[in-house]
Amino acid sequence: MASVFLIEDDQAIRQSLVRALSDQGHSVRAVSTAADALRDVMSWDPEIVVLDLGLPDMDGRDVIRMLRAVSQVPVIVATARDDPEEIVRLLDAGADDYVVKPYTAAEMAARIRAMLRRSRTESARPGPLRIGGLEIDPVRREASVDGRPLDLTRLEFDLLAYLAGREGEVVSRRQLLAEVWKQPYGGGDKTIDVHVAWLRRKLGESATEPRYLHTVRGVGVKLVDPTP
Ligand code: CA
Repeated sequence: MASVFLIEDDQAIRQSLVRALSDQGHSVRAVSTAADALRDVMSWDPEIVVLDLGLPDMDGRDVIRMLRAVSQVPVIVATARDDPEEIVRLLDAGADDYVVKPYTAAEMAARIRAMLRRSRTESARPGPLRIGGLEIDPVRREASVDGRPLDLTRLEFDLLAYLAGREGEVVSRRQLLAEVWKQPYGGGDKTIDVHVAWLRRKLGESATEPRYLHTVRGVGVKLVDPTP
């Protein structure tokens, strides 16, 4: 179980989520403004932050950036907007995962469990991996391409490390959902496509001119060594 910091201005949502997560054994602290959140996050030092993007006192993306400036805590954002561009912006601002409103307490609880599994198994991973100009250190959670450090979100790093650990192997979306997103029951193809697209951009390549990341239509994604 975990310490969860909930930032939500809607009293009904806040109360039901605090109740549901507490019933599951989590230790929950809830605030209703960005100012309170930024004041308390350092002293409370939670394992997970759940952030409503529609707060009365500050833009949601600014809150993510300000949280990121002081903490590497995993952040799950709750957004009312379900368009891929907005989700890319949120992930790029430093969010680790998102849920689209309205969501159920059960869905949020499952997201929190998945996030905890990911963050708690990080330390048990093997040493650096080199594929062509790509270097990935799972322990230090650092990656670079051609000597250029990559600024990756938690999920982007997990996705890259998972694919790199299976060099040349086509990995299906279902497998990625189960193994990287820890969601074995499907859904979320768009989430994967968004992360692959963003990872490509950071690697300096595109879907039309791929180097490392190759989409195999109707099957999945593979990471290959592009050096001849
Ligand atoms: Ca709100």
